[in-house]
Amino acid sequence: MTKTISLLGSTGSIGRQTLEVVRELGLSVAALTANSQVELMEKQVREFHPALAVMYSEEAAKELRQRIDDLDVEVASGSEGLLKAAKLPQADTVVTAVVGSVGLEPTLAAIREKKRIALANKETLVCAGELVMAEADRCGAEIVPVDSEHSAIFQSLQGCRDRNEVTRLILTCSGGPFFGWSHEQLESVRPEDALKHPNWSMGAKITIDSATLMNKGLEIIEAMRLYRLPVEQVDAVIHRQSIVHSLVEYRDGAMIAQLGTPDMKLPIRYAFTWPNRAASPDRKLDLLTCGELTFHAPDLEAFPCLRIARACGKTGGTACAIMNGANEEAVMAFLRRETGFNDIHRLVEGALNRIEVKYQPCLQDILEADRAAREAVRQQLGTLKGNLHL
Ligand code: NAD
Ligand code: MG
Repeated sequence: MTKTISLLGSTGSIGRQTLEVVRELGLSVAALTANSQVELMEKQVREFHPALAVMYSEEAAKELRQRIDDLDVEVASGSEGLLKAAKLPQADTVVTAVVGSVGLEPTLAAIREKKRIALANKETLVCAGELVMAEADRCGAEIVPVDSEHSAIFQSLQGCRDRNEVTRLILTCSGGPFFGWSHEQLESVRPEDALKHPNWSMGAKITIDSATLMNKGLEIIEAMRLYRLPVEQVDAVIHRQSIVHSLVEYRDGAMIAQLGTPDMKLPIRYAFTWPNRAASPDRKLDLLTCGELTFHAPDLEAFPCLRIARACGKTGGTACAIMNGANEEAVMAFLRRETGFNDIHRLVEGALNRIEVKYQPCLQDILEADRAAREAVRQQLGTLKGNLHL
């Protein structure tokens, strides 16, 4: 059971909900990190008294230092600060709640210190899952998923003594705000439309990923890595109500699922208390009023990201790192209104066509694939702009 955490990404959606659970369970906080939200960081530092507070942005770190100079808290910045927070000896658990592949190196650092990893940062497992899992095995570090689907699978696997008995993982997917739309209809989607998720309130990047269904693509790869199964044994079904959080199918045909209200605090709490469970003050699911539970096949024509992710999961090597890096860059461009909604999958496919996949990659190869993918997206965006000016 977790006693003291380092929380990477404390000002985000998962970060803030993690601190609610910290308050509820009476855990200690050794380190907090964020990108640039100084005001909220100051509040969090004053409430949770970490030994270390990190702002990724140097400017923000300077401002935080001034604001809390009455406190005995070390302030650090940049990647070095993140690494320091990940390795802090006081913490037994590191919560990875930063968004994007920036989480990769701190996650590896925490694994090497044998911390429990409460893993929300799925991009890390997508770009370097095999490497991360091998390092966790080598160091004897526990990785407990926070992503609701993977937590549901983790919970449904408790008591399973032979993983060969598992035939399939079934991830549920809300379908996002554009369920039932055609690819053509999706051409005109604007950021403000895509930022409205029907069931979950999350950070901007994952909300767009949920709208393109790339989120489910990333999660299929995350599940392949966490549970060491080929892509053929990981499926996704649309389940609009987000009540069944995912399922495990066993070889005798039994399907074990975890159900609950859509609330990230449950998987966060479980990542801290596993293998035990703590009482929760939150509203429980009421089967009599939760309504009908429905399941549909995803539309791969309208949402090609799901198909692209499955293909990358099959290819392996650096394919998933290229896909992930390109997607991060394309989503940011969409949020800045520099490109259209359907261009996200086009830009990702463009990057995959331009960059050669390396097999059995080392960390350096993965970081290079991530960099090259981002560069390929920027080049494609430059060409798009060029065409507009003609
Ligand atoms: P968010 O955007 O709300 O928060 C991201 C956090 O990371 C913030 O604290 C931000 O300051 C920090 N950050 C951003 N860029 C950074 C950088 N370059 N360097 C250091 N720190 C940086 O995101 P979120 O919705 O909380 O998601 C966080 C992660 O958890 C993502 O990987 C996401 O896919 C995953 N996740 C989120 C949810 C959810 O419900 N929000 C559910 C499952 C998984
Ligand atoms: Mg999820």
